[in-house]
Amino acid sequence: MPLDVARMVSILRSIAQEPSVASGIVHLHEPLFVGREWEYVKDCIDTGWVSTVGAYVDRFEAMIASRCNAAHAVALVNGTAALHLALLLLGVRSGDEVIIPSLTFVATANAVCHASAIPHIADSSERTLGLDPEKLARHLAASTRCTRDGLVNRSTGRRIAAIVPMHVFGHCVDMDAIIAVADQFGLPVVEDAAEALGSLYKGQPAGSLGRVGVLSFNGNKIVTTGGGGAIVTNDKELAGRARHLATTAKRPHAWAFEHDAVGYNYRLPNINAALGCAQLELLDDFLVAKRRLAGRYATAFADVYGIEVFKEPKESRSNYWLNTLILDRESATERDLALAATHNVGIMTRPVWTPIHRLPMYSACPKMDLSVAEDLERRIINIPSSAVLGLA
Ligand SMILES: *Cc1c(COP(=O)(O)O)cnc(C)c1O
Repeated sequence: MPLDVARMVSILRSIAQEPSVASGIVHLHEPLFVGREWEYVKDCIDTGWVSTVGAYVDRFEAMIASRCNAAHAVALVNGTAALHLALLLLGVRSGDEVIIPSLTFVATANAVCHASAIPHIADSSERTLGLDPEKLARHLAASTRCTRDGLVNRSTGRRIAAIVPMHVFGHCVDMDAIIAVADQFGLPVVEDAAEALGSLYKGQPAGSLGRVGVLSFNGNKIVTTGGGGAIVTNDKELAGRARHLATTAKRPHAWAFEHDAVGYNYRLPNINAALGCAQLELLDDFLVAKRRLAGRYATAFADVYGIEVFKEPKESRSNYWLNTLILDRESATERDLALAATHNVGIMTRPVWTPIHRLPMYSACPKMDLSVAEDLERRIINIPSSAVLGLA
């Protein structure tokens, strides 16, 4: 039986209606400003505090830390910069390899390269859509050796320096199992929680599960600062070094420009943080709306042949950042037909990212068997997931 594309379009039309949008286009994920955004941003302009220091930065960091149940948050210009700094702070050095999943947004891989390291690409789990810990453990056991300098990839001779699991579309990876693998092989974990603010894993907030967590507040994420990101950690020293490196590594002094390292200009401006404070005040409402929308999709697609709505793994409570249809293998050939049909009626749907190992600049990177990522890539369709769709 072929995929019923007409039925899929009609379900999306009935659920993803956006009368407020004049263009008639239903976006994949649009921001929603229904709180004190304007008031806080105006306050920055009125007081002149628009740049990298200001009360909203401090307040935003306190709000993120509390939300993530972590001791410290450092607000940064974007999630990619946060990943870059996190890798540096965990000791990733030039020429190291860093384990990342193939099914991730390209920023995860780019940040590894920004740290002068090389992505080592790992496979995904069909259950969580994220890094598969068992498969990774088998791969590391078979292809690495322990040395005085750490874990070494036997075929490249390079050190493997960290693991970066990513919570795909807001669904938490199996962090306990990943941390167990990381501990077994002596690797630190940077949690790419860019898509998962508000998600819980066994009751614990995403972002707080590894040594360092990374968030993004880009315009398409669950809450936005326009552009922004953060590092979240319980390690006070690490947070301090993050703040220092992100502020051109300038030593505190009333007037002198003393810098003690090659630093970065990675601090989040106050005006962006102001937007973020107002958005974080709305996060609980967004989570309710997104869960409601996910429930509607699940009900509507329940009896549609060849399509499954991806549900949060049992140990997690997802923020349902992006709703996801998984086509069965037989229907996968019709994925592009379905994407075209929805776009034709102004409903924005998307395939998942091109797997990292198939992008030209990463095709020669070390990798393991990636058959699950390859298989999932053919079968995933993301459907409109803006909070506004689930508000009422
Ligand atoms: C959005 C995102 C990032 C990076 O975020 P930016 O703020 O856009 O730099 C990193 N990783 C993943 C998985 C993301 O979805």
